[in-house]
Amino acid sequence: MHSELLLVGIAVLAAALHGADGLHPTNRYLKRSTSSAMRATVEASAPPSEDTMTKLTAQPPFATVVVNKALEALDEALPKEKVQPNGAPEYLGGPPSKERVVVLGSGWGAHAFIDGLDADKYDCTVVSPRNFFLFTPMLAGAAVGTVEYRSISQPIRSVNPGVGYLEATCTQIDAAAKTIECELVVCDGAACEIRDFSLSFDHLIVAVGATTNTFGIPGVQEHCFFLKQVEDAAKVRRGIGNCFERASVPGLTDAQREAILTFAVIGAGPTGVEFVGELCDFIEQDVPRFYPSLLPYVRVKLIEASDKVLMAFDSELQASALETLRSRVSVSPSRGSDKPLVEVLLSAGVKEVKPDEILLSDGVTVPYGLAVWAAGIGPLPLVKDLAQSIPEQASLDGRGKLVVDNWLRVCGAPGVWALGDCVTIDQKPLPATAQVASQQGAFLARLFTRNYDLSGAAPKIVGAKQGLVQQFGDADGYAKGFNFLNLGILAYLGDSKALAQVNVDESVVKGTGAAGFALWRSVYLSKQVSWRNRALVAIDWAKIRLFGRDMTRL
Ligand SMILES: Cc1cc2nc3c(=O)[nH]c(=O)nc-3n(C[C@H](O)[C@H](O)[C@H](O)COP(=O)(O)OP(=O)(O)OC[C@H]3O[C@@H](n4cnc5c(N)ncnc54)[C@H](O)[C@@H]3O)c2cc1C
Repeated sequence: MHSELLLVGIAVLAAALHGADGLHPTNRYLKRSTSSAMRATVEASAPPSEDTMTKLTAQPPFATVVVNKALEALDEALPKEKVQPNGAPEYLGGPPSKERVVVLGSGWGAHAFIDGLDADKYDCTVVSPRNFFLFTPMLAGAAVGTVEYRSISQPIRSVNPGVGYLEATCTQIDAAAKTIECELVVCDGAACEIRDFSLSFDHLIVAVGATTNTFGIPGVQEHCFFLKQVEDAAKVRRGIGNCFERASVPGLTDAQREAILTFAVIGAGPTGVEFVGELCDFIEQDVPRFYPSLLPYVRVKLIEASDKVLMAFDSELQASALETLRSRVSVSPSRGSDKPLVEVLLSAGVKEVKPDEILLSDGVTVPYGLAVWAAGIGPLPLVKDLAQSIPEQASLDGRGKLVVDNWLRVCGAPGVWALGDCVTIDQKPLPATAQVASQQGAFLARLFTRNYDLSGAAPKIVGAKQGLVQQFGDADGYAKGFNFLNLGILAYLGDSKALAQVNVDESVVKGTGAAGFALWRSVYLSKQVSWRNRALVAIDWAKIRLFGRDMTRL
């Protein structure tokens, strides 16, 4: 939140320096009538010169990226005209005059795209099996009941009333024919019916994210829990309850109880570490109320194949994370206050997961009651198939991801755009994060909404310039390529402590402990996508303070 205020401040300054007269106080909706008139006059544009192309695609200095993002933030902040629902899309008998945009997915990238899109300009439909946006950074908290699932979900239909939605899974993309095949599964009681349909598009936005990568390790798929979707978090929450109930059964030996109450988390990236932090909070704050006699048996094991936790953070913060995790102790008086709750196993590759034990590459076995796999992501079959069906992609080697150019166009597939976890930008790989996906979604919405001719070698501004980005951010009449501004990374460690790392050009600003936690909470609250979500998350936090986490297994 603070960084955005800073960006807006810089933008105001930039605008003032250029003089108010030079500004066109336009936004995407207010200029709609002129924009369609402009589009009619677009001529087949000559490709930009080599010099211009370099200017458009080169990685600019940090300060330029900050100023450009500030211009974008300010453009977005300008008042928008309310968009009325578009009426029926073409496939439901609506007018065929508008270009058809089909968006695959309802996650970070898709949400930012449809949020910024002028739906009056397009016949836009979202296709996704999930009819809501999910705030993934708080899924680990949802898995132990710190927040409720609905508090971090937002119905996708409410994001932009001019955009249609179909609850279906895309099963195949024909980039050449500009069609997609979809599958809708309708269940009524025990009976399920599968309905297939196809859609045609002028532009397809592929924002389907990624899938969990098990690296083909035997037993992971069958025996581990995952943390990717709401259903995963719900399963973990029920699974934790199951372990405590199973361990309560009379007649078990101490060793059996300890095995059942060993929670193994595989992967010490942000998801794994945050889950361990949340789980320890739950164990320390709530288990004593319900299962005090079981506390001495509870163990948490964080298993990591490399020799580090939280690779994306700098080494000082990694050390601080390790110290915080290892300092967690059980609150049980019988266990003694010096007994660690968390064991971090580094350089411990998982070889196989059996129903009740994990085999590590060094021969050690870890008995467990519940194992959560948080060790990486990989491409979805839909994305791999699409990449394989486009000859140009074969020569670019996106390793299963779609290779896109600087304007997020899938190389070799005109009319197909892609963003988020399922893409890699040619020569400029970026981390698979919500920050990247949402910045890309907002960038693409701007290209589609403002006066750009999207058909050339680089999107060209046509007619009057709209807003600050076209005035000051673009170059030689063309849209600059996407540049990512890293606003910093955060990780919750549990016990009201968090890490914060903000990269300002070459320098790194770091925060740990309670200060990091205050920043983590304020950023995550402000980054919720609606006031409804902000209120619900704040209420959940207050609720657990007052009443503890809800342990009922509904
Ligand atoms: C537990 C967890 C914690 C995380 N924490 C952070 C964090 O703190 N900070 C951060 O920056 N990033 C975080 N991430 C990463 C972040 O969530 C992803 O990078 C981000 O979601 C990627 O956005 P996306 O739009 O590419 O895909 P997603 O947000 O994953 O959305 C993909 C969408 O596509 C839909 N879909 C899938 N297949 C199909 C299909 N065949 N047809 C149609 N639709 C389909 C899905 O239902 C979903 O709606 C976290 C991820 C997880 C799982």
